Amino acid sequence: MKDYKHHLVTAALPYANGPIHIGHLAGVYVPADIYVRYLRLKGEDVIFICGSDENGIPITLKAREEGVHPQDIVDRYHDINKKAFEQFGITFDIYSRTSNKIHYQTASDFFKKLYEKGEFVEQTTEQFFDESAQQFLADRYISGTCPHCSNENAYGDQCERCGTSLNATDLINPKSTLSGNPPIKKKTKHWYLPLDKYEPVLKKWILEEHKEWKANVYGQCKSWLSQGLHPRAVSRDLDWGVPVPLEGAEGKVLYVWFDAPIGYISATKELTDDWEKYWKSKDTKLVHFIGKDNIVFHCIIFPSMLRAEGSFILPENVPANEFLNLENDKISTSRNWAVWLHEYLEDFENKQDILRYVLTANAPETKDNDFTWKDFQARNNNELVAVFGNFINRTLVLANKYYKGHVPEMGELTEYDTATIKQIPEIITRLEHAIEHYKFREALKEMMNLARLGNKYLADTEPWKLAKTKPERVKTIMNICLQISASLAIVSEPFLPFSAQKLKDLLNLKQYSWEDAKTISILAVGHQIKKAEFLFSKIEDQAVQKQIDKLLATKKQNEMENSTHEAVKENISFDDFQKLDIRTATVLEAEKVRKTKKLLRLKIDTGVDTRQIVSGIAEFFAPEDIIGKKVVVLLNLEPRKIRGIESQGMILMAEDLDGKLSFVQSEKANKGALVK
Ligand SMILES: [Zn+2]
Repeated sequence: MKDYKHHLVTAALPYANGPIHIGHLAGVYVPADIYVRYLRLKGEDVIFICGSDENGIPITLKAREEGVHPQDIVDRYHDINKKAFEQFGITFDIYSRTSNKIHYQTASDFFKKLYEKGEFVEQTTEQFFDESAQQFLADRYISGTCPHCSNENAYGDQCERCGTSLNATDLINPKSTLSGNPPIKKKTKHWYLPLDKYEPVLKKWILEEHKEWKANVYGQCKSWLSQGLHPRAVSRDLDWGVPVPLEGAEGKVLYVWFDAPIGYISATKELTDDWEKYWKSKDTKLVHFIGKDNIVFHCIIFPSMLRAEGSFILPENVPANEFLNLENDKISTSRNWAVWLHEYLEDFENKQDILRYVLTANAPETKDNDFTWKDFQARNNNELVAVFGNFINRTLVLANKYYKGHVPEMGELTEYDTATIKQIPEIITRLEHAIEHYKFREALKEMMNLARLGNKYLADTEPWKLAKTKPERVKTIMNICLQISASLAIVSEPFLPFSAQKLKDLLNLKQYSWEDAKTISILAVGHQIKKAEFLFSKIEDQAVQKQIDKLLATKKQNEMENSTHEAVKENISFDDFQKLDIRTATVLEAEKVRKTKKLLRLKIDTGVDTRQIVSGIAEFFAPEDIIGKKVVVLLNLEPRKIRGIESQGMILMAEDLDGKLSFVQSEKANKGALVK
């Protein structure tokens, strides 16, 4: 692999139209942060760029939905997300925003340069227009059926199901998302980037020179390139965004996917005057961390823009992840089906590392994956607490007990000692290789292998049994355990930065380098460590149950919103109502009607008689649970036979929107009370 002098790492700019959730974190920000922290620890020159994407139609749609100005939306979510990322330990060197002046200037200049070089094709075409909203419809303002996969909910710029990038006019049965009406077509002028012109260079650059890209990224690129690229409009008729910097282009702004990746450049400019060193030097390695829905923009469109401009480098890699699901269901902002970062940080105070750990262990690197709260709890309790935490705690407790916290001398090594020590650099080398190849799950496994190595060594050597009889041997064992602890403090930092810092504090470890972690001489003999404290603590059932309940409530809410109440029935006269004989009663007997799923045979005491009723409630109530229950019964319903059994009346039930039944009951009335 080529040796680079500088590293420029970007993480996809989140849209400032909603908060960050675990899907974003697992897909983009946690792996990017691990990568960057690792490079920093290795002493590399690296900058880590991100910020809010504040232009584009998702913002204007959200503002419209809430009846506020788009600026209010982006201010709100920029603040929430910036703060949440910071608290979560995502170490961007800058978290900028694309509504900044410097970005408007940079994006504008970029467009002008391409315009002056004659890189655009100017075209007047017929575009979709919503007559009732008096607005051109592009991107998310229009939905319809994807011509490639028949997904009925594809947007005007992309189908989220098959990932294909679309033009609004490609959609079958297009509909305005503003009014729901089919749009009309109206003439408008736009600037197009002829992607077809770059097809040969893209083919060579990706398909021949970057075969090492992840299979999902390479595969998507290959599929687009083989379908053939078409010119793509880089402007929109919209009143929110970077204005097209040309005369006669009033009311037109840059397409958000033209200006957003330029946001990486403007954020770098904002960060350092030396920005060209990162963007224009062949000595810089540019890596884009993104989710799979952004592959086309980062591998096809942005590189074409950079080529057209001419002075920028292209990315060396674009490690896109697949999607993370939540409890077997697709994460969705609109359905509130997500674990929101800012809420997690409140509910699990100072437990950032657990989420970082679980999202990495379970990262959707090669396929979609599932997050469950049970798995979250199990990984914490069985891995972080039982292995990593247990090893550290026992080591620190014993070192304090035997040597008042001073690192003891290492004596003669046994074969087992030597074999253990030999594994330390081997594990770390595998960890490095995995990170450098964007295999963060594997890297995390190796980090845990180091903790397992220490935990096993301590359990096998049992120094507590030798303390009295072989004090010299115990010194050697404890020295090795302390060195492995220090090694873990260094190599766990990219994954578990908060716990790594705590461990360094406990070990009083101040001066170290990444390479030190491969040695067993990190802590000098006599070095003073601090008293033991727990690095991790158990997650109790109650805490995860609370989260599961929250999701169940969301699910129920969604079901209610999706079902509709029955319309109110026609009026009846009071006399008609008076004809009903409704009374309270008590259930005396209940049994299932054989060979049926739904039916119970009940014997009830109505106060005036006892009678038999057949009721279709067996799916919701077990017979033994309703004996003795007070119910409300319609007595004068004409008797009828159900499955050969005569039913003399009807128990009144309330049916919820989700089909669930519950008894109608009187608060206080005795049996036989008349309901009127
Ligand atoms: Zn599709």
